[in-house]
Amino acid sequence: MLTPRPAEFEQVAAVHDTGYIREVEALSRLGMPLSPDTPLSGASYDAALLAAGGAIAAVDAGDAFALVRPPGHHASRDNGTGFCIFNNVAIAARHAQERHEKILIVDWDVHHGNGTQDIFYSDPSVLYFSTHLYPHYPGTGWLSETGAGEGAGFTVNVPLPVWTGDAGVLRVFDEILVPVAMQFKPDYVMVSAGFDGHVDDPLGSLGLTEDGYGDMALRVKQVAEDNCGGRIAFVLEGGYHFDALSRSVLAVLDSMAGKRCSGDNSPKPAGESGGRMADRIREIKKVQGRYWEFG
Ligand SMILES: [Zn+2]
Repeated sequence: MLTPRPAEFEQVAAVHDTGYIREVEALSRLGMPLSPDTPLSGASYDAALLAAGGAIAAVDAGDAFALVRPPGHHASRDNGTGFCIFNNVAIAARHAQERHEKILIVDWDVHHGNGTQDIFYSDPSVLYFSTHLYPHYPGTGWLSETGAGEGAGFTVNVPLPVWTGDAGVLRVFDEILVPVAMQFKPDYVMVSAGFDGHVDDPLGSLGLTEDGYGDMALRVKQVAEDNCGGRIAFVLEGGYHFDALSRSVLAVLDSMAGKRCSGDNSPKPAGESGGRMADRIREIKKVQGRYWEFG
């Protein structure tokens, strides 16, 4: 168990504009909303600093899971929406870069992490990979969004159809995430771990289960072991059905602790989404094939 310290102002300012940080502090003290879907209370600023500090503590510990709220992946440099105030995973990634060069961020929340994508869109040192329901909030994350300038090819978006299911997402991890990650060769792996794609969750409709999340974690853990000595940090994002959320987090912790063996890691029946997924994966390989090789 790790006890987080609030993130330092400079650590937050490595990602966010200082004017935005001051605005969050002032609105929080007044109890005024940051945006229509992101209310603040008098304690929100301190809670947001602690959440970012928790993600930093997970990076420093390594092989850790930051169980933090508020989530962060919708927060951009100068804007907070979607319950997100500061971008915890981005702040922790910049902190990791004090010692490690290349960071892979895997975002499996049901929503696209538009804030994280924006922050690193032109940055080849951080590869942002996201699976998310599409079309869905916040509206971004189509497969043609692949990065800009020097960052071209270092954003990989996998928009998923409704009821993709465990088998569909695992297929994406095997056919797209793993080959891209093995070519990128990260020095640190971070996961924006949202669980609102769970079949019981009221906010998404991907139809994932806790077993699926456990298997996704096994794949990401393997990427970290194969590339960077197992250096990995998970950071909680969404997940709004508390029982499903707790079961899913536990499945990930079991995978991290080696209690979930690769024997559990068998392909599941593809279900009705199988054909649609094959087409989608082909489309993504075509777009990303400008930057990465796929076997
Ligand atoms: Zn979400």
